[in-house]
Amino acid sequence: MSLCRAIKSVSEISKITFFFVLVVLVSGRLVAAEEKPKPQVLLINCNIFDGKSEKLSTNARVLVEGNLIKSVGDAKLKSAKQAEVIDCAGRTLMPGLIDAHWHTSYCCAPQSTVVTGDILEIAIRGALGSEKTLLRGFTTVRDVGGNPFATKKMIDAGEIPGPRILPSGPPIGQTGGHFDYRPYQSVPTNPADSQWYWYSVGLMAMADGVPEVIKRAREVMRMGASQIKISSGGGVSSVYDPLDVRQYTFDELKAFVEVADTYNTYVASHIFTDEAAQLAIKAGIKSIEHGFLMSEKTLQMMKDNGVWLSIQPLLNDEDAFEFNDPGSTKKWIEVTDGTDKIYKLAKKVGVRIAFGTDMLFDAKLAEKQGVFLAKLKRWFTPYEVLKMATSENAELLKLAGPRHPYQAGPLGVIEEGAYADLILVNGNPLKDINLVADPHGKFDLIMKDGKVFKNTIK
Ligand SMILES: [Zn+2]
Repeated sequence: MSLCRAIKSVSEISKITFFFVLVVLVSGRLVAAEEKPKPQVLLINCNIFDGKSEKLSTNARVLVEGNLIKSVGDAKLKSAKQAEVIDCAGRTLMPGLIDAHWHTSYCCAPQSTVVTGDILEIAIRGALGSEKTLLRGFTTVRDVGGNPFATKKMIDAGEIPGPRILPSGPPIGQTGGHFDYRPYQSVPTNPADSQWYWYSVGLMAMADGVPEVIKRAREVMRMGASQIKISSGGGVSSVYDPLDVRQYTFDELKAFVEVADTYNTYVASHIFTDEAAQLAIKAGIKSIEHGFLMSEKTLQMMKDNGVWLSIQPLLNDEDAFEFNDPGSTKKWIEVTDGTDKIYKLAKKVGVRIAFGTDMLFDAKLAEKQGVFLAKLKRWFTPYEVLKMATSENAELLKLAGPRHPYQAGPLGVIEEGAYADLILVNGNPLKDINLVADPHGKFDLIMKDGKVFKNTIK
């Protein structure tokens, strides 16, 4: 062996040795990281409503590991020695609730603050409202308009308590449409005018014409939206749009859908009437928000095209929204006169129905989120109500595809691999749905992402 070759093989050997040592070190570290056990919680003596089945499984156990459900079983199910054990003592364990039509930014701040106040106050009130939302048992919300991004970021990082949020970001509307809340004197606009405050802080957005629609929709996706929310029909709280108007042309609606499609997600649209709904369905919109004034024909068209009815049990009852504008009050009555009929028709047709509350501008009213859920008993059995607010709402959220922020497991169900978002109810809500109307009295334990946020059992 020449000197040269000998030196070369020594250097090869040292390279191999170095590589080997590196592999040992790295794999050692990996093993060390894997060996650190995730915390476990074992829930025993539970009656389980799993989000799907009408039958409670009795005397069952659920093992939570980290933020997921590791297993569901009977008395034989064992945990690691150091697991925390919670005795359900025969209470009903159910999946955390999902509100499919929520506004983190608008729910809990007074109208005067939202309309004329500072985005910082709106955001702080939204964050405070989020903790209360979670403590009402709503562990997930689909936010269909506003600027909840900072709140969501801090909730997901575990820095503040709150539900999972699937944000739409600023909802997009046309000039004179449902999201045009500018003062009367704001038109005609001049391209040199600065943007109105709400639009510059991401509380809402406006777009007219296909190029602007495409740009705004992309901006909203860039902000981190899970889905795009628009308005394509007249609104109640807005002043310049009677209920019968269609908003956006077919080409504009299609442009929204195309942008959503390029991001592998979908468009949800605020709509009350048949004409607006049918145009939206033809354009490819997948979630109709409200829809109170629609006919059986439109509901059938929705069913045939896999379009969801995301509706709220809003009635002209003791919880009626109050409006400063008499025109809005009139529209409210017209819309809520349709509530009873639309629920009955939707159930008859078999269109997919999502539950939401759409609480606006009133922290006290927002406290009634569970009361609104219980109002569904007018049209549905307790089982149907609970399934809608858990596993079925979770199915709607899946339309966001890869933009769904929570991909580690399913939501709205109690099964192996699902997120550990759980409520322990003192009683059986499948027999008495009114239990969900009193979360502070009847929900003894609330867990989200494997962490306990409320526990009054001890
Ligand atoms: Zn809304």
